[in-house]
Amino acid sequence: MPPDTISVTFLGTAAGRPSTTRNVSSLVVKLDSKLWVFDAGEATQHQFMDDRCSLSMSRVARLFITHMHGDHINGLPGLLCTISAGEGSVLPGQEDPRLGGSQGIPPTEIYGPSGLRLFLRTCLALTQSILSRPYVVHELLFADEPEEVGELHPSERRGRSIRADERGFWRDVVGEAEGGGVSVSAGPIQHTIRCLGYLLSEAPRALPIQPNLYIPHLKKPANAAALAAQGIKNPLSILSQLQTSREPVTLADGTVLRPPDPNPHGGRRVMILGDTFDARALVELVRPADSSGKPAAGEVDLVVHESTNAYLPTWDDSHAPSKQRDGALVTEASVRALAREHGHSTPQVAGEFARLVGARELVLNHLSVKYPDPDARGAQGASDESRAKWRGMLGEIERQADEALRGGGRVDEGVEVEGSRTARVRTASDFMTVDVVRRDKRQ
Ligand SMILES: [Zn+2]
Ligand SMILES: [Zn+2]
Repeated sequence: MPPDTISVTFLGTAAGRPSTTRNVSSLVVKLDSKLWVFDAGEATQHQFMDDRCSLSMSRVARLFITHMHGDHINGLPGLLCTISAGEGSVLPGQEDPRLGGSQGIPPTEIYGPSGLRLFLRTCLALTQSILSRPYVVHELLFADEPEEVGELHPSERRGRSIRADERGFWRDVVGEAEGGGVSVSAGPIQHTIRCLGYLLSEAPRALPIQPNLYIPHLKKPANAAALAAQGIKNPLSILSQLQTSREPVTLADGTVLRPPDPNPHGGRRVMILGDTFDARALVELVRPADSSGKPAAGEVDLVVHESTNAYLPTWDDSHAPSKQRDGALVTEASVRALAREHGHSTPQVAGEFARLVGARELVLNHLSVKYPDPDARGAQGASDESRAKWRGMLGEIERQADEALRGGGRVDEGVEVEGSRTARVRTASDFMTVDVVRRDKRQ
């Protein structure tokens, strides 16, 4: 069964380095009680323990890494040690009791790019860390990347080396059954180094059962008697069985009761992107290449896209009309070009991508230190004037992305995409939670 609730909590929303109002990258997808972590910048475990965070680290079941930049992975070794109770060590020559006891425990599953396995192994080995709960790293390899075959750390289990398919995607790195009704695929996005975007897809939920279609058959004396003979005293209990098991049931008179159809609106989809200046390769994951036409609004329930830099002439003195850079005026296009040079996006890039995939909601993440969070605890010492300015900048960033998301017209070679009227755009802040509403419960 797919999870009842899916939510995304941001633990770090800063680009590159932490500030007093934002930590570096990490977010948590909560699937009912299970937690999947995406990126783990430094001090991610401290964010978990903060009183503004209601998530328990002990619920972390899987971790996904987008790319190897330090602001996305430097918190991973510490987080892993804590969730695996890895602190402490024994004297040289003594047998470590944690190694013996961990044999039967399922490992923490970690997914990410080439190099992740060696990074973790090196950190754990040099810090003499032994974990009570083992871990496994599954590497998502591009076509030209070699498979890592080094020696395992004592707490490590052999992971899969998953090659991109012929279209360049890693489909179902977590399968639907394994993921408890939510599968995970990944694809390449453009950054200064190899970088991944992840797509979480929920299995379609069954439509509500219509008892009047089933009850007359279940109540037929011959059928009820046959069920009673099988130990099923209340024939109506078959209704809940149909809803949950999704398997047809054949009655004594030959009638086959089929479970209700899956919801035609499909399951929820959440896209979580690493740093990027161009994520358009992922559009095909959402809309297969052979499907012509426009994306339906709401095709992806939530897109988390970076928006590191922005052209803010009203708020940013270096963008004032009189200012020049390299002998040219600073413009929206020049800020976009400079962001791109550093592998990053502006609100326009994020909004255009969200439009291409039919996003219902866009969260702008990975914000430059130039854009502090005015409502963060770390902003309490700032003047009202500063906070008003920061609020103005974030509002303008949201407005620009919103305009790109709603605007119609051509945004990709040969693809005309209508803007969405109902999509929502907001900037991320640390400890913000976004609920992804069940599709059958949408207003
Ligand atoms: Zn980054
Ligand atoms: Zn990066």
